[in-house]
Amino acid sequence: MKDTTAKKRIAILGSTGSIGTQALDVVRQHPDKFEISVLTANSNSTLLRQQAIEFKPNTVVIVEDKSYDALSKELWEFGIKTFTGESALCDVVQIEEIDIVLTALVGFAGLKPTIAAIEAKKPIALANKETLVVAGQLITQLAMDNNVPILPVDSEHSAIFQCLVGEFHNPIEKIYLTASGGPFRGWSKDDLNKVSPSAALKHPNWEMGAKITIDSATLMNKGLEVIEAKWLFNLSVDQIDVIVHPESIVHSIVQFEDGSMKAQMGLPDMKLPIQYALAYPNRILSSFLRFDFLKYPTLRFEKADRETFKNLNLAYEALSMEGTAACALNAANEVSNQAFRDHQISFLDIAEINQKVLHESTYCKTPSLEDYLEADKEARTLAKTQIR
Ligand code: NAD
Ligand code: MG
Repeated sequence: MKDTTAKKRIAILGSTGSIGTQALDVVRQHPDKFEISVLTANSNSTLLRQQAIEFKPNTVVIVEDKSYDALSKELWEFGIKTFTGESALCDVVQIEEIDIVLTALVGFAGLKPTIAAIEAKKPIALANKETLVVAGQLITQLAMDNNVPILPVDSEHSAIFQCLVGEFHNPIEKIYLTASGGPFRGWSKDDLNKVSPSAALKHPNWEMGAKITIDSATLMNKGLEVIEAKWLFNLSVDQIDVIVHPESIVHSIVQFEDGSMKAQMGLPDMKLPIQYALAYPNRILSSFLRFDFLKYPTLRFEKADRETFKNLNLAYEALSMEGTAACALNAANEVSNQAFRDHQISFLDIAEINQKVLHESTYCKTPSLEDYLEADKEARTLAKTQIR
């Protein structure tokens, strides 16, 4: 039988990012409950080295090989193994001692390591929403076949998950995902035409990685979250609604068949949903700032502007199409989001390109993993052609 008092050994894929570093803050605060088995980063070897020396994992992966030689030599002195390359991510998640894998890397790159972790029967704390957007059907089926839980880290999905505790036998009527509305809430198309990447990178409530911050400004993030919610909670498209809530205090809401609604609230701090997923099913003590009602006398709720911010509707459309549609939309968005950050296209071009690619890419109704990989590749090519 498993020792329930033993420390949970965690693999963090993407430990140098916004979610990864906040997860390490949580681990730092609970040395009696968690320990680190694996850390990985794409290219930031300086931070990865620092983290490895502090947390003494069994293994680290630096995906880009530029700094591999120096890093592996240095960490060897501490008894830490170092690997490089994309495929190393799929290998290290299978390490025997790992109890849970936190997928905190960004984009499509999360798909294969998540599959490898599920096949190795490791519970997943899922931040990397793109994996469920791209291949939700395949991932949820695989998780069921392997009896592996997928614990949401995204704050909205963590909120829904927390509202569902003890309600497993009660059907959901619908859910409301809350959206801050991003930095350009209430802006017109004319205003949006001129926005710069640096303006779009200033989120009013959350500090996050660059890709998701742009996705929040275009409402694509909420679109991706609608798709993520479908797969996590097995809902139909019309059971998922979005409501703009500029204060980001109510993290999401479940409505049951008797009309009763449960919401989960708190200050916007990703450490809370990260800790909930890592410690699940327990709640553990935290020193996170507590909510003060008197500082928030008003909580507002508004309709999302789907005309101006077209990405949200594109996500609903892709979800209704099923098959590879959401995979193509995600790929287009990864390319257009990056192109905007690189000053190659305007803010409004992002949704235009996403729409074109969604409508022009080859569609497969019942995809295999190969079909998803192919759809991703084709959509990236189509998006790049649009940018040129
Ligand atoms: P980030 O850009 O800050 O960090 C990304 C991490 O992934 C880094 O460690 C980076 O080295 C690694 N990485 C990037 N590209 C990679 C690749 N091709 N292969 C391997 N590793 C790679 O991103 P983030 O904001 O922490 O977001 C991570 C994931 O969590 C995203 O899917 C995002 O949508 C989701 N998420 C983030 C937040 C947040 O507050 N930041 C909230 C909810 C969900
Ligand atoms: Mg979210």
